[in-house]
Amino acid sequence: MSVPKAYLKKNRKKRLEHGHPWVFPGEIEKIEGDPKGGDVVHIVNHVGHFLAQGFYNPRSQLIIRVVSYSEEQEIDQEMFYQKIEQAWKRRQWLVPEAKSCRVVHGEADFLPGLIIDKYDDILVVQILSLGIEIRRQWVYDALMKIFKPRGIYERSDVPVRKLEGLELREGFVNEPFDTTATVIENGIKISVDVAEGQKTGYFFDQRENRAALKPLITGWGLKNGIELNEEGLPVDPKGKVIKNPFWNGAEVLDCFSHTGSFMLHSCLYGAKKVTCVDISDKAIEMAKGNALLNGFLHRTEFIAANAFDYLREQVNAKRKWDIVILDPPAFAKNRQAIEGAVRGYKEINLQGMKLVRNQGILITASCSYHLSSARFFSMLQEAAADAHKVLRLVEFKRAGLDHPVLLGSEETDYLKFAIFEVFNR
Ligand code: SAH
Repeated sequence: MSVPKAYLKKNRKKRLEHGHPWVFPGEIEKIEGDPKGGDVVHIVNHVGHFLAQGFYNPRSQLIIRVVSYSEEQEIDQEMFYQKIEQAWKRRQWLVPEAKSCRVVHGEADFLPGLIIDKYDDILVVQILSLGIEIRRQWVYDALMKIFKPRGIYERSDVPVRKLEGLELREGFVNEPFDTTATVIENGIKISVDVAEGQKTGYFFDQRENRAALKPLITGWGLKNGIELNEEGLPVDPKGKVIKNPFWNGAEVLDCFSHTGSFMLHSCLYGAKKVTCVDISDKAIEMAKGNALLNGFLHRTEFIAANAFDYLREQVNAKRKWDIVILDPPAFAKNRQAIEGAVRGYKEINLQGMKLVRNQGILITASCSYHLSSARFFSMLQEAAADAHKVLRLVEFKRAGLDHPVLLGSEETDYLKFAIFEVFNR
């Protein structure tokens, strides 16, 4: 039986050839054969030249998702095993110290719509495409064989599944097990409940970005006017020796703190005091628990509040921090929502940079892939203009090594993370 063929139109953008992993309905000229949803089809150009094999889903705007660029490749259980094993080997190569990381990152690991995160000895699976959905037993079998995990938990409970015509699903794949795990990252312990957390529980994508805080955290006591006496001990303006061992560490504001991962890294690297703000009581409890777990509780402060209100209130109160961190959720869930989202990003960044002491640091991120890096930077420039600040870039980073980016697919390049020095103007 021959595999159904999807002929692409002659006059289309050559996106697929440029590495983009999706075909949209408008790009298809005709379909030969009678594929059902989830079936494999061969994608060919207008003259029938083979381009790729993909999973077909007529209910989705992503009508075909590329799974292999080889015509000979059998799309079978063995292929799933091989791809997952390769993805894992890549992580062991690039992030060898990480026992917890993203193992499979969907399209960028050539498994469209499949996310696998490893939390020590627990695996969390998220399936976002019909092609993987109907073959999911192959995924579970491969995971059991490669990792021999304590358990597999499925978090296919995200609304985007509806766009594929899929119901939401969450729960144990096999036997129930304790769903809490401890992630160790850059020497920090983070307790995660994979059944409870956002997304699949923890945001591995900022591992390297959190580590980038290291050189920024100390030196602030001296910058802020604390002097050393003849014995080299820090003294306050009255000449009294300061006992706080973290006297030279930064005062940090961590907005949208969730697990508190930025707070934890700040404390690890020597912060004097970190204020965490999150709208969710549950998130605040989680961050507090993590501070306790790492022995940082006495250097932290927790506030359950809407960051938009909190930032404005602190500006009015003329409070200042050495470092302000803004790691908001994706404000733009789709392309249409972009301009509204930009206003939101601009507002928090504008207020956030006003709270930074002169020559302090603003750390700001956006995980909306609809917001391009260029628009992210222009938004920051507009905010800086309004706040009478000049920003000097220290670092610009993306998602970490376990979140590969396909050059042809801007969707896989969603995370923007920038560190700025903030100067008064
Ligand atoms: N920095 C976090 C990840 C941020 S996730 C970490 O390191 O784990 C986004 C967080 O923003 C969520 O915890 C959510 O509860 C919180 N949030 C969403 N809207 C908010 C708002 N308006 N004010 C404050 N927090 C908000």
